[in-house]
Amino acid sequence: MDENKTQGQLLQEKLTYKIHNAWEKSSDDDKGKAFEFCEGYKDFLNRAKTEREFAYEVEQLAIQNGFISLDEAIKSNKRLMQGDKVYLVNRKKSVLLAVIGSKPMEDGVNIVGAHIDSPRIDLKQNPIYEDTGMVLFKTHYYGGIKKYQWVTIPLALHGVIIKNDGQLVNVVVGEDETDPVFTITDLLPHLATDQMQKKMSEGITGEGLNLLFGSIPYNDDKVKDKVKLNILNLLNQKYGIIEEDFISAELEIVPAFKAKDVGFDRGLVGAYGQDDRVCAYAALKAIVDTADAEKTAICILTDKEEIGSMGNTGAESNLLENFIAYLYAQSSDDYNEIKLRRCFGNSRMLSADVNAAVDPNFEGVQDKRNASFIGKGLVIQKYTGVRGKAGGSDANAEFVAELRRLLNENGILWHTAELGKVDQGGGGTIALYAANLGMDVVDCGVAVLSMHSPFEITSKIDIYINFKAYKVFLQKA
Ligand code: MN
Ligand code: MN
Repeated sequence: MDENKTQGQLLQEKLTYKIHNAWEKSSDDDKGKAFEFCEGYKDFLNRAKTEREFAYEVEQLAIQNGFISLDEAIKSNKRLMQGDKVYLVNRKKSVLLAVIGSKPMEDGVNIVGAHIDSPRIDLKQNPIYEDTGMVLFKTHYYGGIKKYQWVTIPLALHGVIIKNDGQLVNVVVGEDETDPVFTITDLLPHLATDQMQKKMSEGITGEGLNLLFGSIPYNDDKVKDKVKLNILNLLNQKYGIIEEDFISAELEIVPAFKAKDVGFDRGLVGAYGQDDRVCAYAALKAIVDTADAEKTAICILTDKEEIGSMGNTGAESNLLENFIAYLYAQSSDDYNEIKLRRCFGNSRMLSADVNAAVDPNFEGVQDKRNASFIGKGLVIQKYTGVRGKAGGSDANAEFVAELRRLLNENGILWHTAELGKVDQGGGGTIALYAANLGMDVVDCGVAVLSMHSPFEITSKIDIYINFKAYKVFLQKA
């Protein structure tokens, strides 16, 4: 086979690190499976555009697949046995799942962790006002957005309103074909002379992101703000709410469009919220498929990553720590504080998050020798952080070697990357919070184009390879 190759060619093949096109390296069977996997993924994305909706869908899928509530197991003092599958929903916004392994917990657990919140625009607590015969909602954006991307597109309203008596009202408007949608307006080019001279970060301001919500007045000449009254009346008829109820609400504005295939060959997925639901979905599907693993397998899906992971639904909280303690105590007789600490130290985690793919329109921001690419398989990011790796998490070389070996042995295509050129910017993930417990953690996930925009782009083959990597890790690591 190698007869025609020169010694130099053979040597080069043996010695050089290469990145491969994942479509070319995948079998027809795997390509078919990638397309099939992404049908389920797109469907899930359409049903789960917020962290609450994602958490709800996770719980449904978990129950369908034989996972039982850990909360119930603790209350009824049910002893967890090898092969048992449990889940825990935390405040409806973060979820943990586990499959109990055959080895003692003290030997450590294998974790895949992703986040299920995405950049968006939230309503303020006193949002509704009338101006120029229109009703608008004041907003405060959530996470890192380029504000100009969120104007003049159809937007949907998702979330919950908790009324004074504690009753929860679910709101989803803009998703059904017959639903109205909302939008944020922009200035016509004819009058935008001043606006167009501004920096892109200032052309659309945060306080200017007001959502257009209505325009028909209430029919009564005696009242002021008739359009606002009409909207309040319609809201009251539909949801039984009054204006004060917005104060105890979490209402999120997200793009109203659905996930789509992108490209004439349908090789890409375009959708809102793929950071980080592309990894969260893969992690979820991987734990659902996990059976007979030696080490206990855990999937953690957290909230608030896009604003720093703080709060009692974020990765900085004791969510993961408590979950492992509960699992340990429920599944063994020898649980104690020392053994729990040893379990943390012996545990490994994949911090499952997206990476910024090289974009031919914006090449200058990446070092192409250390960047991620669409369609080249799993992205391993040894360290995160900005300007001299500050604030990041850096995986130990020993752990990266273990992961590399595991992926190579199982034929899973990967490449290594960091987020952008040195001093260009950067970012963090949930990795450091698990690392704080003493675990080995490394970031790995899917390359994304137009990250944090209303329509993010990923490759179907990468999505499937990412899923396979998480599955292999939970099953065999
Ligand atoms: Mn992310
Ligand atoms: Mn992000």
